[in-house]
Amino acid sequence: MSELNLVLLGPPGAGKGTQGERLQEDFRLPYYATGDILRSAVRGQSQLGISAKEYMERGDLVPDDVIIGVICDQLRSPEAADGFILDGFPRTTPQAEALDRAVESLGKELTAALLIDVPEEEVIRRLGGRRTCEKAGHVFHVEFNPPEKEGVCDVDGSRLIIRDDDKPEVIRHRLEQYREKTEPLVSYYEDKGLLRRIDGTASPDEVGEKIRGLLSTLRMEQET
Ligand SMILES: [Zn+2]
Repeated sequence: MSELNLVLLGPPGAGKGTQGERLQEDFRLPYYATGDILRSAVRGQSQLGISAKEYMERGDLVPDDVIIGVICDQLRSPEAADGFILDGFPRTTPQAEALDRAVESLGKELTAALLIDVPEEEVIRRLGGRRTCEKAGHVFHVEFNPPEKEGVCDVDGSRLIIRDDDKPEVIRHRLEQYREKTEPLVSYYEDKGLLRRIDGTASPDEVGEKIRGLLSTLRMEQET
Protein backbone atom coordinates (compact mmCIF):
# COMPACT_ATOMS: atom_id res chain seq x y z
CA MET A 1 0.00 0.00 0.00
CA SER A 2 1.17 3.51 -0.74
CA GLU A 3 2.13 5.74 2.16
CA LEU A 4 0.37 8.95 3.13
CA ASN A 5 2.95 11.06 4.90
CA LEU A 6 1.20 14.29 5.72
CA VAL A 7 1.88 17.64 7.30
CA LEU A 8 -1.07 19.79 8.40
CA LEU A 9 -0.59 23.55 8.15
CA GLY A 10 -2.81 26.43 9.12
CA PRO A 11 -3.12 29.16 11.75
CA PRO A 12 -4.09 28.33 15.33
CA GLY A 13 -7.83 27.73 15.45
CA ALA A 14 -8.05 26.46 11.85
CA GLY A 15 -9.41 23.12 13.05
CA LYS A 16 -6.27 21.09 12.40
CA GLY A 17 -6.87 18.98 15.52
CA THR A 18 -10.44 18.12 14.51
CA GLN A 19 -9.42 17.25 10.98
CA GLY A 20 -6.33 15.34 12.09
CA GLU A 21 -8.44 13.12 14.33
CA ARG A 22 -10.89 12.43 11.53
CA LEU A 23 -8.09 11.55 9.17
CA GLN A 24 -6.70 9.21 11.76
CA GLU A 25 -10.02 7.33 11.79
CA ASP A 26 -10.72 7.45 8.06
CA PHE A 27 -7.26 6.55 6.81
CA ARG A 28 -5.96 4.70 9.89
CA LEU A 29 -2.88 6.86 10.16
CA PRO A 30 -1.21 7.81 13.44
CA TYR A 31 -1.84 11.45 14.29
CA TYR A 32 1.01 13.30 15.98
CA ALA A 33 -0.07 16.63 17.41
CA THR A 34 2.96 18.41 18.84
CA GLY A 35 0.75 20.28 21.27
CA ASP A 36 -0.50 17.01 22.79
CA ILE A 37 2.97 15.48 22.92
CA LEU A 38 4.31 18.57 24.67
CA ARG A 39 1.35 18.89 27.04
CA SER A 40 1.74 15.28 28.11
CA ALA A 41 5.46 15.90 28.60
CA VAL A 42 4.56 18.91 30.78
CA ARG A 43 2.21 16.77 32.88
CA GLY A 44 4.86 14.08 33.15
CA GLN A 45 7.38 16.63 34.47
CA SER A 46 10.10 15.26 32.20
CA GLN A 47 13.13 17.41 31.39
CA LEU A 48 11.56 18.11 28.00
CA GLY A 49 8.30 19.00 29.73
CA ILE A 50 9.80 21.44 32.19
CA SER A 51 11.68 23.21 29.45
CA ALA A 52 8.69 23.24 27.10
CA LYS A 53 6.36 24.54 29.79
CA GLU A 54 8.23 27.82 30.18
CA TYR A 55 7.90 28.58 26.49
CA MET A 56 4.26 27.50 26.23
CA GLU A 57 3.19 29.65 29.17
CA ARG A 58 4.51 32.70 27.35
CA GLY A 59 2.82 31.66 24.10
CA ASP A 60 6.24 31.24 22.49
CA LEU A 61 7.23 28.42 20.19
CA VAL A 62 9.16 25.62 21.85
CA PRO A 63 12.75 25.53 20.48
CA ASP A 64 13.58 23.14 17.67
CA ASP A 65 16.05 20.97 19.53
CA VAL A 66 13.44 20.24 22.22
CA ILE A 67 10.91 18.99 19.67
CA ILE A 68 12.80 17.42 16.79
CA GLY A 69 14.08 14.33 18.64
CA VAL A 70 10.62 13.48 19.94
CA ILE A 71 8.99 13.75 16.53
CA CYS A 72 11.67 11.72 14.79
CA ASP A 73 11.19 8.89 17.28
CA GLN A 74 7.49 8.85 16.39
CA LEU A 75 8.14 8.65 12.66
CA ARG A 76 10.54 5.77 13.20
CA SER A 77 7.94 3.71 15.07
CA PRO A 78 6.24 0.77 13.27
CA GLU A 79 2.80 2.39 13.56
CA ALA A 80 3.96 5.06 11.10
CA ALA A 81 4.94 2.51 8.46
CA ASP A 82 1.97 3.31 6.20
CA GLY A 83 2.07 7.02 6.85
CA PHE A 84 1.46 9.66 9.48
CA ILE A 85 -0.21 12.99 10.11
CA LEU A 86 1.91 15.71 11.70
CA ASP A 87 0.16 18.67 13.30
CA GLY A 88 2.11 21.50 14.87
CA PHE A 89 5.40 20.41 13.39
CA PRO A 90 7.15 21.73 11.39
CA ARG A 91 6.45 25.29 12.46
CA THR A 92 9.52 26.93 10.99
CA THR A 93 11.59 26.54 7.85
CA PRO A 94 14.57 25.04 9.75
CA GLN A 95 12.17 22.49 11.27
CA ALA A 96 10.81 21.69 7.81
CA GLU A 97 14.36 21.11 6.59
CA ALA A 98 15.10 18.90 9.61
CA LEU A 99 11.92 16.94 8.88
CA ASP A 100 12.92 16.48 5.25
CA ARG A 101 16.24 15.02 6.38
CA ALA A 102 14.59 12.73 8.94
CA VAL A 103 11.99 11.49 6.45
CA GLU A 104 14.66 10.92 3.82
CA SER A 105 16.86 8.99 6.25
CA LEU A 106 13.91 6.67 6.84
CA GLY A 107 13.60 6.09 3.10
CA LYS A 108 10.30 7.95 3.00
CA GLU A 109 9.04 11.13 1.42
CA LEU A 110 6.28 13.57 2.27
CA THR A 111 3.10 13.07 0.27
CA ALA A 112 1.55 16.48 0.85
CA ALA A 113 1.34 19.52 3.08
CA LEU A 114 -2.32 20.36 3.67
CA LEU A 115 -2.96 24.03 4.39
CA ILE A 116 -6.25 24.67 6.16
CA ASP A 117 -6.72 28.31 5.30
CA VAL A 118 -8.59 30.61 7.71
CA PRO A 119 -8.37 34.44 7.84
CA GLU A 120 -7.06 36.08 11.02
CA GLU A 121 -10.31 37.75 12.10
CA GLU A 122 -12.00 34.35 12.03
CA VAL A 123 -9.18 32.86 14.12
CA ILE A 124 -9.70 35.52 16.79
CA ARG A 125 -13.44 34.89 16.83
CA ARG A 126 -12.96 31.15 17.15
CA LEU A 127 -10.22 31.06 19.78
CA GLY A 128 -11.33 34.07 21.83
CA GLY A 129 -14.68 32.43 22.62
CA ARG A 130 -13.32 29.06 23.64
CA ARG A 131 -13.96 27.90 27.22
CA THR A 132 -12.44 24.76 28.69
CA CYS A 133 -13.64 22.79 31.68
CA GLU A 134 -11.19 22.80 34.55
CA LYS A 135 -11.66 19.18 35.47
CA ALA A 136 -11.63 17.17 32.25
CA GLY A 137 -10.85 19.61 29.44
CA HIS A 138 -14.32 19.54 27.81
CA VAL A 139 -14.40 22.38 25.30
CA PHE A 140 -17.24 24.86 24.71
CA HIS A 141 -17.59 28.08 22.75
CA VAL A 142 -19.57 31.12 23.85
CA GLU A 143 -20.88 31.61 20.31
CA PHE A 144 -20.74 28.28 18.44
CA ASN A 145 -21.25 25.74 21.22
CA PRO A 146 -22.39 27.48 24.43
CA PRO A 147 -22.86 25.47 27.64
CA GLU A 148 -26.40 25.27 29.04
CA LYS A 149 -25.36 27.35 32.02
CA GLU A 150 -22.78 30.08 31.53
CA GLY A 151 -19.38 29.22 32.96
CA VAL A 152 -20.32 25.63 33.87
CA CYS A 153 -19.42 22.37 32.08
CA ASP A 154 -22.50 20.48 30.81
CA VAL A 155 -20.79 17.14 31.28
CA ASP A 156 -19.43 17.27 34.81
CA GLY A 157 -20.54 20.61 36.27
CA SER A 158 -17.01 21.89 36.80
CA ARG A 159 -15.95 25.47 36.18
CA LEU A 160 -15.20 26.67 32.63
CA ILE A 161 -12.02 28.66 32.26
CA ILE A 162 -10.15 30.43 29.47
CA ARG A 163 -7.07 28.35 28.79
CA ASP A 164 -3.82 30.35 28.78
CA ASP A 165 -3.51 29.63 25.06
CA ASP A 166 -6.90 31.23 24.39
CA LYS A 167 -6.31 34.53 26.21
CA PRO A 168 -6.49 37.54 23.85
CA GLU A 169 -2.89 38.67 24.33
CA VAL A 170 -1.63 35.12 23.82
CA ILE A 171 -3.80 34.67 20.68
CA ARG A 172 -2.35 37.86 19.20
CA HIS A 173 1.14 36.67 20.04
CA ARG A 174 0.49 33.24 18.50
CA LEU A 175 -0.80 34.87 15.32
CA GLU A 176 2.31 37.04 15.10
CA GLN A 177 4.48 33.97 15.54
CA TYR A 178 2.48 32.16 12.88
CA ARG A 179 2.83 35.02 10.37
CA GLU A 180 6.51 35.43 11.02
CA LYS A 181 7.73 31.84 11.33
CA THR A 182 5.15 29.40 10.01
CA GLU A 183 3.69 31.20 7.02
CA PRO A 184 7.02 30.95 5.14
CA LEU A 185 6.36 27.18 5.11
CA VAL A 186 3.52 27.74 2.69
CA SER A 187 5.96 28.85 0.00
CA TYR A 188 8.49 26.24 1.12
CA TYR A 189 6.04 23.42 0.35
CA GLU A 190 4.61 25.24 -2.66
CA ASP A 191 8.10 25.30 -4.20
CA LYS A 192 8.34 21.56 -3.67
CA GLY A 193 4.97 20.98 -5.32
CA LEU A 194 3.56 19.51 -2.10
CA LEU A 195 1.15 22.21 -0.99
CA ARG A 196 -2.60 21.59 -1.10
CA ARG A 197 -4.87 24.43 0.01
CA ILE A 198 -8.20 23.78 1.72
CA ASP A 199 -10.73 26.50 2.56
CA GLY A 200 -11.00 26.22 6.34
CA THR A 201 -13.93 28.62 6.74
CA ALA A 202 -16.47 25.96 5.74
CA SER A 203 -18.03 23.67 8.37
CA PRO A 204 -15.80 20.95 9.87
CA ASP A 205 -17.80 18.31 7.97
CA GLU A 206 -17.30 20.08 4.64
CA VAL A 207 -13.61 20.64 5.31
CA GLY A 208 -13.25 16.97 6.26
CA GLU A 209 -15.03 15.90 3.09
CA LYS A 210 -12.69 17.99 0.92
CA ILE A 211 -9.61 16.59 2.64
CA ARG A 212 -10.80 13.02 2.25
CA GLY A 213 -11.42 13.58 -1.47
CA LEU A 214 -8.01 15.12 -1.87
CA LEU A 215 -6.22 12.28 -0.10
CA SER A 216 -8.04 9.60 -2.06
CA THR A 217 -6.85 11.32 -5.23
CA LEU A 218 -3.29 11.54 -3.91
CA ARG A 219 -3.33 7.86 -3.06
CA MET A 220 -4.60 6.92 -6.51
CA GLU A 221 -1.93 9.09 -8.13
CA GLN A 222 0.72 7.26 -6.12
CA GLU A 223 -0.57 3.85 -7.07
CA THR A 224 -0.55 4.50 -10.80
ZN1 LIG B 1 -16.13 18.95 31.91
